[in-house]
Amino acid sequence: MNPFATITETVETSPKVSDEVKTTTCYMCACRCGIKVHLRDGRIRYIEGNRSHPVNKGVLCAKGSAGIMTHYSPARLSTPLLRTGPRGAGEFKAISWDEALAIAVDWLGSIRRSDPRKLAFFTGRDQSQALTGWWAQQFGTPNYAAHGGFCSVNMAAAGLYTIGGSFWEFGEPDWEHTRYLMMFGVAEDHDSNPIKIGLGKLKGRPPEARAKFVSVNPIRTGYSAIADEWIGIRPGTDGLLVFALMHELLRTDKIDLDFLVRYTNAPWLVLQDRGGAQDGLIARDADGHPLCWDKERNEAANALLPQIKPAVVGEFVLPDGRRTVPVFQLLAQRYLDARYAPDAVAEATGVPADTIRRIAAELAHAAFEQQLTLDVPWTDWAGRKHDRFVGRPVSMHAMRGISAHSNGFHTCRAIHLLQMLLGSIDCPGGWRYKPPFPRSAPPMLKPAGRSAQVQPGHPLAGLPLGFPLSPEDLLVEADGSPARIDKAYSWEAPLAAHGLMHMVIANAHKGDPYPIDTLMLFMANMSWNSAMNTAGTMAMLTDKDAAGEYKIPHIIYADAYFSEMVAYADLVLPDTTYLERHDCISLLDRPICDADGAADAIRQPVMQPDRDVRPFQDVLIDLGARLGLPGLVEPDGTAKYPGFYADYIVRHERRPGIGMLAGWRGRNGDKEFSGEPNPAQLARYAENGCFWRHELTPSQRYFRHANSDYLQWAAKVGFIGKPEQIVLQLYSEPLQRFRLAAQGHGTVQPPDAMRTGIAAHFDPLPIWYLPLEEAAVDTASFPLQAVTQRPMAMYHSWGSQNAWLRQIHGENKLHMHRRMAERLGLVDGDWVWVISHHGRIKVPLKLMDGVNENTVWTWNAVGKRKGSWNLSRDAGEAAHGFLLNHVISELLPPRPDGHRYSNSDPITGQAAWYDLRVRVEKVPSEEAGETYPGFATLQPPPGLPPRPDVLRYGAAFRGRVE
Ligand code: SF4
Repeated sequence: MNPFATITETVETSPKVSDEVKTTTCYMCACRCGIKVHLRDGRIRYIEGNRSHPVNKGVLCAKGSAGIMTHYSPARLSTPLLRTGPRGAGEFKAISWDEALAIAVDWLGSIRRSDPRKLAFFTGRDQSQALTGWWAQQFGTPNYAAHGGFCSVNMAAAGLYTIGGSFWEFGEPDWEHTRYLMMFGVAEDHDSNPIKIGLGKLKGRPPEARAKFVSVNPIRTGYSAIADEWIGIRPGTDGLLVFALMHELLRTDKIDLDFLVRYTNAPWLVLQDRGGAQDGLIARDADGHPLCWDKERNEAANALLPQIKPAVVGEFVLPDGRRTVPVFQLLAQRYLDARYAPDAVAEATGVPADTIRRIAAELAHAAFEQQLTLDVPWTDWAGRKHDRFVGRPVSMHAMRGISAHSNGFHTCRAIHLLQMLLGSIDCPGGWRYKPPFPRSAPPMLKPAGRSAQVQPGHPLAGLPLGFPLSPEDLLVEADGSPARIDKAYSWEAPLAAHGLMHMVIANAHKGDPYPIDTLMLFMANMSWNSAMNTAGTMAMLTDKDAAGEYKIPHIIYADAYFSEMVAYADLVLPDTTYLERHDCISLLDRPICDADGAADAIRQPVMQPDRDVRPFQDVLIDLGARLGLPGLVEPDGTAKYPGFYADYIVRHERRPGIGMLAGWRGRNGDKEFSGEPNPAQLARYAENGCFWRHELTPSQRYFRHANSDYLQWAAKVGFIGKPEQIVLQLYSEPLQRFRLAAQGHGTVQPPDAMRTGIAAHFDPLPIWYLPLEEAAVDTASFPLQAVTQRPMAMYHSWGSQNAWLRQIHGENKLHMHRRMAERLGLVDGDWVWVISHHGRIKVPLKLMDGVNENTVWTWNAVGKRKGSWNLSRDAGEAAHGFLLNHVISELLPPRPDGHRYSNSDPITGQAAWYDLRVRVEKVPSEEAGETYPGFATLQPPPGLPPRPDVLRYGAAFRGRVE
């Protein structure tokens, strides 16, 4: 026998393992992949990816397949709970749902009748914000947001104000055609499986179609580990790197001027009147149209007209004598400045100047020498016919590593400017919008919440979240004080499009700007891994006033699991797992669209709960009906949606014909996007794998900001108001309006103490400044940056209670570069103190090479509080795991006048998780071995099963595979 012969073995890769298969949507991370759940004897046997699903096309990640153990977790809550002991002690009694709902209605009803603002309703990573935001509006409170202020609002707001879309999960590289992908600050992402599939495509290309993948991230994990080039940048300096790339492209004249003139506000004229009330605003005609300078007629003209030949450089005097210059001239002057040359930023960023010059040249080569054409005729917004799409095959993607810095808004905008200079927005090979984007830039929806918009017993006069365009849109009272409990849309965070969830507890505890009565949280572990200043937050949650009453009088918490937050609730509403309920992944919220199609999805129950739990969305609709909220009751006062969320998904109409789901609308299910409610809609979704998708025609797929076919369609289906060109905003006029207010112009003025900061930060062109914590602390005392990464196998705290995923990441360590360790006299396995201006933690150390030398990092949300999640008291997550959150403050160090601003981006209020500065010191060996700080062990509430020593799964199935 030939010993080298290949032995072939036939393996059945799809054995029948179940007696029933149900489709639904995964919820083990934010990506929303389609899954097939195999059931055997009424138990979950196996989860596989749905090959027909547009998001994952059958791909399933480790998290998704391990959903079985999240579903069967021994940490599942099993009954409503009412606190019986002191808050934080974890003493509860089990109560019935009738009792629980009556208590909630008592608390909520009384504040709705007196002052609805006294409800602060904040949700975590839930995927039902189209319901929760609408519910808050019906209740009448402006104090609502989801967790976007934690992770993504810089990304979202910068994109929406600049290009009418954003990276996040609302756009994607043109994976089929791109030749160069630059990814900034991305660890495991909202687009998890699509990115993995896309990177796989790039790697699988033949040599002649090779694409280069460059990852800019201080840490070489995840996607960065398979990048062709890893740039281990110093955290918080990405903006400088982008400016240097722009400097090089401008210096070498490698920019797409045609794209800038056609699609951006590069030619718009900016008024130059230093000190004047109009300075820096866009010059407009009597009808409000922006002006440019028409070179052929040598006069100012409406910049929105298609036939003009506008100037992009020069100085032009309008007939009324006002001086102007085009946006592009201001842009070129700024980024050609020597302070943004590669040599000038190399030290700050840690990226050698030669590398920056080379990357700029590579970007230019890919964009201009590898120009790509697709022979698809299309028509632009002005009716001009084109016989093909011409693309610059450079794509970009960015996420939380950029977003979670206090300079993140400007850095996100800078990346979009870089894309525009290269002409690579929504073109073949570039970065592409996913419907319903693009939308108007800047966005038009304004937030509601000033006290005049709040009326006891009535809905709020608008949605609580929106997009201010000028100081007049802020949610501040006549005396300038914030209208919202989180101070979103105040002068502290004017463009806080997702709220400031990280400030809610601190502000409510202080009664600043006013006290609240009830804090209602859903899926938000706010006493642990979702809190900055964890110990302080726990103290605030339990603090009492002089009368012995809790400073936050009522806390209602909804969660499926015994998370650390449960102990701090007065009333616990137990949720189901994601496999036991209906959900709606709606076009009104965060749908599952891809660049080639609009799509939405549902979750359907594949199991019935075996505990006394209810889907939180059902509970919200039930509570709304009991409270008599408009929209949730019929005129006779009876519940409008007696079938709860499933009923609401099908029958609720936001506008006539527009509901939660866009597929199979109309009485017969034969309409898309708009149509009467269809009683069989959920069944049609279930038949189709729990999703619906509308494919765009080839002529609608690129340059959608200026593509007539697309814009006409988008207006028809309600994505945009009018089929007009969406002009990309290199220069952001709304920011200048805030700056003018800081300079004393206009009727709505910032407090004097904030004028300098507002004037500095609200620059209409992207700027870079030191992350605010770095600027405020003595960097010699805190010389290192400290950040977290999200592991591929775990997305959030749900994952780190999962018995299978815990075998991949059962504890975490502080990772440090070997050279830095050598300088500090540390070796692998040492225990170290990590000390910030706020506190200290004691943690184990692990050395590595793939990290920026001045950066230490750890995995996100692995550390657990002892006893929580029904884990053993000695679980590695509690004994050796830790959170960086313990040393991150929600407030910046005091200013000279004693005031402490929130640890946030000053424009959007985004939590600045990644600005943390620390020093690292060796722990004496006798003190090593257990992480610090430790907190009292949490006791399981009633209804939890005993903590299993060994968690078993699947024994009942043994020997039964057919
Ligand atoms: S990427 Fe996220 S949604 Fe998709 S299978 Fe994995 S955990 Fe589930």
